[in-house]
Amino acid sequence: MSTPTATTVKQNNPYQNALQQLDKALSFLDVEPGLADVLKKPQRELTVHFPVAMDNGSTRMFTGYRVHHSLVRGPSKGGIRYHHQVDLDEVRALAMWMTWKCAIVNIPYGGAKGGVVVDPRQLSLRELERMTRRYATEISILIGEEEDIPAPDVNTNPQTMAWIMDTISMHEGHSVLGVVTGKPVDVGGSQGRVEATGRGVMYAAREAAHHMDMPLAGTRVVVQGFGNVGSVAARLMAHYGCKVVGVSDQYGAIYNPRGLDVNGVLDALKTTGKVGGYQDAQPISNTDLLTLPCDILIPAALENQITAENAEQIQARLIVEGANGPTTPEADDILNKRGVFIVPDILANAGGVTVSYFEWVQDIGFFFWSEEEVNDRLRAVMIRSFNDVLKIAQEKSTDLRTAALILAVLRVAKALEIRGIYP
Ligand code: GLU
Repeated sequence: MSTPTATTVKQNNPYQNALQQLDKALSFLDVEPGLADVLKKPQRELTVHFPVAMDNGSTRMFTGYRVHHSLVRGPSKGGIRYHHQVDLDEVRALAMWMTWKCAIVNIPYGGAKGGVVVDPRQLSLRELERMTRRYATEISILIGEEEDIPAPDVNTNPQTMAWIMDTISMHEGHSVLGVVTGKPVDVGGSQGRVEATGRGVMYAAREAAHHMDMPLAGTRVVVQGFGNVGSVAARLMAHYGCKVVGVSDQYGAIYNPRGLDVNGVLDALKTTGKVGGYQDAQPISNTDLLTLPCDILIPAALENQITAENAEQIQARLIVEGANGPTTPEADDILNKRGVFIVPDILANAGGVTVSYFEWVQDIGFFFWSEEEVNDRLRAVMIRSFNDVLKIAQEKSTDLRTAALILAVLRVAKALEIRGIYP
């Protein structure tokens, strides 16, 4: 891999990308410049350095972050990711995107995000638990049921959330169910939460395909990333008649133009730890996956995957962003010019935080819903939000990302204006 130049590093800085997207949306609006400045800055940023006792008796220092972008519309909300490349600018961008996401689906939350610089595969389960509990303790000055509610993100899962919930509950002396969402159902989690992001991606894809007069039956789908979002999206797209022709994970990608058996890929992943363990497909590189012949592309891995370098070669007519920030602003311009329809992250993957909100409502009400109830409400929110954004895109003759941001900015700026500037 070539060493990135200073310019590519700068271009691919997620926070700079998030600001560039925001500026584009602001150019359509008449937001007072002082208020626009409020939206551009995170409200609070916490960096923590903390020790963890390792299994071999040594002590290792870790660095983590929790950023609150906005608390204007309610408590802040957003996941925690464990990744060796996490940095403050990435967490800032992800926190800002959470503010917009919550506003688009109109749930009463602001945006936050957290991260720890770690490759969790290099820790034992006990080390991971101790690291999680210590990180939760360090950020406990910011998180809380009514203040800021974390959830899973890249490399974190329901078990991680259970440890955080337990840690905060031990500090408080009683169970605080609503301090995190995405918990196991046995400890206050919601039915349907694990699947919610992927399910929401499927609803978004269905609405977009319908808008484009693209029938789902036989439609070729490529999914980048086979984690909690990508694997569920792939399975559900196949369930609705699509032909999933390519998928990938961090180790590599597989392609079969006749279609993959998604359940077979899931089985191979379980037994071999990689999608590449699936036999009835051709192994290809992760780079080639994105430019495969297909109709719908679902990037569901990390940021900056669709860039100025590969945007011209993308063959999909519809991109539905399961990941946060997978497309750079330069790639966006290229794809928009080419007429590729993009359902942006802050709309397409908002199903996760929507069901997180349902989980939190259930936790604070101590009253739990059936899976069917959760999925029905999720579907209604996704369809309504897609159409709200589409209407703005048509009115303003702009792309869906800018339209989604316009809707979000309008809602957040309005809340800010009504509340006023303190004191
Ligand atoms: N990490 C997810 C996201 O990026 C979910 C956040 C949440 O449920 O709070 O949307």
